[in-house]
Parts: sequence; C-alpha cells; structure tokens
Amino acid sequence: MDHAPEHAAARCPQHPEALAVGACARCGTFACAACAHPEPGGGLRCPACWQRARTGGFTSQLPVLSTLTFINGALVLLLGLFSVGVFIAFLFSAFGERDPEERDLGALIYGGAGLFYILIGAAQLYAGALIRRRQRYRTVIAALASGLLTAFTCYCIIPSLALFIYGLIILLNKEVADSFDAAPPPAHTS
Ligand SMILES: [Zn+2]
Ligand SMILES: [Zn+2]
Repeated sequence: MDHAPEHAAARCPQHPEALAVGACARCGTFACAACAHPEPGGGLRCPACWQRARTGGFTSQLPVLSTLTFINGALVLLLGLFSVGVFIAFLFSAFGERDPEERDLGALIYGGAGLFYILIGAAQLYAGALIRRRQRYRTVIAALASGLLTAFTCYCIIPSLALFIYGLIILLNKEVADSFDAAPPPAHTS
C-alpha cells in the first residue's frame, strides 16, 4: 500500500521513532504500524478511538445482550425438548386410548413445533456466543429475528420480541456495528 506523501514524514505520537502508516479515520491522529487498528471497511483507527469504539456507549451493553440472548435461547430450546417429549408421549399413547387420527395429529403438532423451537433456541445460543465474540453481525440479527417466528406457535413471542427490539436498539448503533469483526490489535513488532 502506498501512503500519501504528507504522511511519509509523520511520526507516531506513541512511538516517536516509528513512522506513521496513516491517520485515524475518526480523529486524524497519526499511528504507526504497531498502533494502527485496521477498520473493517478500510482505513484505520488510532488506539484511543479503537478502544472507545469497543467499550464506549452502546457497546458496553453487548455483554448484557449476549447473556439475555443465551437465556432466551435456552428457554426456547427447553420448550422444544418438552414438545418433543410430548410428541414421544403421543407416539406411545401415554395419554390413554385415543382415536388414532387424533393421536397422529397431536404427535405431528408437538413434534413439528418441538423441532422448530430446538432450531430457534440453538440459533439464539449461537448468537449469544457470536455477540460475546463480536462476530457475524448479520447472523446475530437473523438469529434474534428468528425468535419472532415463535409468534406463530406460542407465548414465547413476548421475551423473543422484547429481546429482538432491545437487540436492534443496541446492534443498529454505528459504534456497535463497527466493533463487530474488527481486526484484533496487530502484534507489536519492533
Ligand atoms: Zn483516533
Ligand atoms: Zn505507534
């Protein structure tokens, strides 16, 4: 990469012996190769702005969002396992003698809903881990949105909807979006 000539002689404020590789896209401070944090969309950030983006404002809510996503995912998953349990009970006629057609219908509804919940619950557990690691922004939003599908089947729409709205408020914040998939700080080479 070729750098603009006006940066060529600039020096890093942290490391006066090192030449700057560029200026921070946010505040314009020069940074050397060891200090500069590449931004996902190109350009770079100085250490102070990078740190602020990772910890300031709404990004401080990410651990909370991660925990809530985990809890909601676990609840939906448990509900799925419960439904599969009911499905198995139907199969073995645990509810006493019934019309076979009624039994099949019950098994189908509980079995289908159970698998559906297990998928959504697993997606949200995964999203909880991704939020913690700040990876795959779009996957996280899709997993939170998948909770809305529980609306068709049960009352877990209420926590899922609340989680989705809370998640969007945090995730749509620019600083938060920028902190996802941001490259880790480059190793300091002398
Ligand atoms: Zn900066
Ligand atoms: Zn430096």
